[in-house]
Amino acid sequence: MAVRPVRLFGDPVLRTRAAEVVDFDKELRNLVRDLLETMTEEGAAGLAAPQLGISLRVFTYHAEGVTGHLVNPRFEVLDEQMQDGPEGCLSIPGLFWDCQRYQRVVARGYDQHGEPIEVQGTERLARAIQHETDHLDGVLFIDRLDPETRKQAMREIRQARWFGAPEPVVKFSPHPMLGKVR
Ligand SMILES: [Zn+2]
Repeated sequence: MAVRPVRLFGDPVLRTRAAEVVDFDKELRNLVRDLLETMTEEGAAGLAAPQLGISLRVFTYHAEGVTGHLVNPRFEVLDEQMQDGPEGCLSIPGLFWDCQRYQRVVARGYDQHGEPIEVQGTERLARAIQHETDHLDGVLFIDRLDPETRKQAMREIRQARWFGAPEPVVKFSPHPMLGKVR
């Protein structure tokens, strides 16, 4: 089983700065595979390792016809042009709010084998790169909303059926080797 439960808003792992990956080993490749499969199963534009409870700087993306992953990513904005549009997050399921993002970014990082890679993104791909990189710093997209929308978002989250629900039953063993990296 490679599709894994996604951690929900309120889980401290989503507010923790994830650690740099130092070992490009089989466990990393398993993590990338699980991220890709869970993202695809959920029909998401991206998924970051902390959302699976693994505090490492890895995410996958699927937007604008491009699917991939980045390890230890950084991004730069290509110009100051912004985009506005609805954004959502698997960790805040079923809820969407308008969120302003840069229109064009370039992300640099490594693939699962440790080779340097670069991904240029516009529109939804650019949005996914910014959203997923935020996850690695413990930042959620609701932090990027304008104050009025954020208040509304917090109200809706508190009323959401999943919020404060008991922990789901964990059916997989966590990555002990990866999880202890700090
Ligand atoms: Zn998210």
